[in-house]
Amino acid sequence: MLRIAVSWLLSFAALKSATFRYSMSRPIQARIDLSALQNNLRVARRLASARIMAVIKADAYGHGLLRTAAALSEAEGFALLDVRDAVALREAGFRQTLLLLEGFFAADELPLFAEYDLSSVIHSPQQLAMLDAFPRRNALQVWLKINTGMNRLGFAPEQVPAVMEKLKSHPAIREVTLMTHFSHADEPEGVAEQLELFKGLTAAYRAPRSLANSAALLRFPATHGEWVRPGIMLYGASPFADTSAQQLGLQPVMTLSSELISVRELKAGDRVGYAGLFRADRAMRIGTVACGYADGYPRPAATGTPILVNGQRTRTLGRVSMDMLAVDLSEIDDAAIGSKVVLWGEGMPVEEVARAAGTISYELLSALTTRVPVIAA
Ligand SMILES: *Cc1c(COP(=O)(O)O)cnc(C)c1O
Repeated sequence: MLRIAVSWLLSFAALKSATFRYSMSRPIQARIDLSALQNNLRVARRLASARIMAVIKADAYGHGLLRTAAALSEAEGFALLDVRDAVALREAGFRQTLLLLEGFFAADELPLFAEYDLSSVIHSPQQLAMLDAFPRRNALQVWLKINTGMNRLGFAPEQVPAVMEKLKSHPAIREVTLMTHFSHADEPEGVAEQLELFKGLTAAYRAPRSLANSAALLRFPATHGEWVRPGIMLYGASPFADTSAQQLGLQPVMTLSSELISVRELKAGDRVGYAGLFRADRAMRIGTVACGYADGYPRPAATGTPILVNGQRTRTLGRVSMDMLAVDLSEIDDAAIGSKVVLWGEGMPVEEVARAAGTISYELLSALTTRVPVIAA
């Protein structure tokens, strides 16, 4: 209990300090647009007439657990990974369904699940055995995870009937929801194969169903069931390579911004940054931005990664340093020390930066580091 109380206090302290900023501090900041979160939840609501399990794992994809949950309080549930976070949400007064996506890891967590009314994914025979040793009647709600092709977690199709029988008659279990997770919902291959398998396996049972991540929610109404589980779309990023967040009606929630802290002229042949990876082929003007990989900006982002300076699109130059990166100011005549730079967010889709860095928006958002001050508005 002490550990829980302390971690709750710490997250509360983090929430408070996050809203505070020295006027003369390093200019980087991440602004969290709470109304954009609400807009994106409405988009999900319009598309799916199912209950919404907002996925807030990984500190709400880097946006802050408690402030995100508060902004999404219209959601019927929250999905997360760390039981301490779930307890923190309960203690903060959230009454929604709280689902632990990897369930419990040891039998001694079960009393906590019962005490705080936490729902657990059940994906393995080991977890079933732990349940058998738990004496409380009707204490737990479980989500039976079926492996329909992702091959990450879940019971194999042929195990489902026996597991379902066991759970339905288990004295500790109050309700079973049937779930699976798609491996291809964001790609042309889609969900057909996994959806058919799931439907066949679950046709005989009267139980709520949950299948859809953001991509399935957005593209495949047949997957909606009783609970949808959107994550990335709530944060305003598109799960698809061929459709932008804007086209989907989503608004970016996190805007990572900073300023130019240095501006200089290069001569033809001058090189920039570690290893001199960028070499000017003509005289040009460049700037240095107070943002580097220790802030969470991806180091693999090479010359040409899109970035906004004074609201105009330009490109990064050379290698990203720990605390700084370089930008091309050739076309931005009014750029000067103090000019605003948007690394991603409003006007600069995080998906584009992610693509240039060979990764996905999920990784960039959730990798924001704690030294970046967060302003929620
Ligand atoms: C992360 C996760 C989601 C949300 O996925 P998005 O692609 O972010 O919408 C849904 N379900 C499960 C089981 C997950 O692990």
